[in-house]
Amino acid sequence: MAHASSLLPRRPCIAVRVGQVTVGGNAPIVVQSMTNTDTADAKATASQVAELAQAGSELVRITVNTEEAAAAVPVICERLAVQGVTVPLIGDFHFNGHKLLSKYPACAGMLDKYRINPGNVGRGRKKDEQFATIVDIACRYDKPVRIGVNWGSLDQELAVRLMDDNARLPEPEPVGQVMHEAMILSALESARRAEDIGLAHDKIILSVKMSGVQDLIAVYRKLAARCDYPLHLGLTEAGMGSKGIVASTAALAVLLQEGIGDTIRISLTPEPGGDRRQEVIVAQEILQAMGLRSFTPQVTACPGCGRTSSDYFQRLAQDIQHYLRQQMPVWRERYPGVEALKVAVMGCVVNGPGESKQAHIGISLPGTGEIPVAPVYVDGEKTVTLKGESIAAEFQQIVADYVVRRYTPHPSNPSQEVRE
Ligand code: SF4
Repeated sequence: MAHASSLLPRRPCIAVRVGQVTVGGNAPIVVQSMTNTDTADAKATASQVAELAQAGSELVRITVNTEEAAAAVPVICERLAVQGVTVPLIGDFHFNGHKLLSKYPACAGMLDKYRINPGNVGRGRKKDEQFATIVDIACRYDKPVRIGVNWGSLDQELAVRLMDDNARLPEPEPVGQVMHEAMILSALESARRAEDIGLAHDKIILSVKMSGVQDLIAVYRKLAARCDYPLHLGLTEAGMGSKGIVASTAALAVLLQEGIGDTIRISLTPEPGGDRRQEVIVAQEILQAMGLRSFTPQVTACPGCGRTSSDYFQRLAQDIQHYLRQQMPVWRERYPGVEALKVAVMGCVVNGPGESKQAHIGISLPGTGEIPVAPVYVDGEKTVTLKGESIAAEFQQIVADYVVRRYTPHPSNPSQEVRE
C-alpha cells in the first residue's frame, strides 16, 4: 500500500535548520501555522502554540509587533518548556523588527527563526539600514531568516522601478508579469543583500505569497527555477471555510506535484470563535491526500445516496475519524507507522465490500432494504459480521485491537516500523 506519489521528485534545494526541524534538502515537507492571540498575552499565546503543536504543527509563528510582545517571548518560551512543548517558534516582524530585536535580546535569542517582510522593513535609505540591523542580529544569534514577500505589502519602490523600466520597452510586458517579477526580485535581491551582510546561504528560506491561485502558481514556478533556497508555500489571505480550503489546496497541490515547496502554511480565516488548529489539519490533509506524508489514519467514506436509510453511517464515519485523531498524540509515539492506517466506512453493499477490502479495516453498513448486518473486513478478509445496537462501539474496538496488534514494535527492535 505504498503511495506512488511519495516517489515524486522534489526540487533540489539546500537544507535549513530551524531549531530541531530541517526545512528543505531531503527533509519531509514541514507543516507550519501561526497564532492569532495577542503575543503580549504570554499565557494565551503559549497555550495556542501548544495546541497547534499538539495538532501536528512542526513550526509555529507568532507576531512580534510591539515592545510588550517582544518582552513576552521569553515568558512564552518558558511556559512551553514547562509543558514539554519543543516546537520551534518563529517571530514575525514588520516595520519595527530592527528596534524590537535590538532592544529585547532575550526575544532575539529565544526565537528559532525570524521572518522579515522586505516590503515593510522601512523606506528609502532607512530600509537598507533596518534590514541590515535585523540580519546582523540573525548572524549574531545564528538564526535562520525567512524573507517573506507578500503581494499585499510588496516593496513599492521596486514595483515602481520595474513598471517604469517596462513602460520604456518597445513591447511592454503585461502588468501581471511585471508584478510577478517584482515579487521574485524582492525576494532574491533581499536574500543577496542578507548574504552580503554575512548571513549564511543555508540560513535563508524564501516565500512570495499571493492571494490568487494562478498568480501563486506562476510566481513560485519562476522563483523555484531561479534559486536553491527552500521555499515556504502558502496562498495568502485564502479566506474562510471551504473557499479558503479549496483555493489553498488547488494552488498548493499543483506546486507540490511539481516538487516545489518545502514547508507549507494554510492561511485560513477562522469562523468567529473557530478552532485555529484547522489550518494545521488542512495542511496535513493536503500532504496526506497527495501521498507526500502521513499524519493520521485516514477514513474512506462514501458520500451516501438514496440507498442509505439514515445518517447512521455518516455519524459512524465521523466518530471513527474523530477517535483516530484523538488517539494520535499517544499512538504516534507508541505505534510507529500507525499514521498510514486506512479505515473504510461505507453505506451499502454496492461499493462497501470492495472499498473495505482496499483498506486495512473496513465496514460495510446495511443500506435500504438490505439485511441489517455489517460485514467487517481486516486486511482484505471478511472477519466478522456486526449487528444490533452496538455496531459503532464494536467496530471502534476492532480498530483499536488492530492498531495494537499490527503496530506494536517488536521488543528486539523498538524503532521497527511496519512495512506497507
Ligand atoms: S456505497 Fe452505497 S450508499 Fe454509499 S454512495 Fe455508493 S451506493 Fe450509495
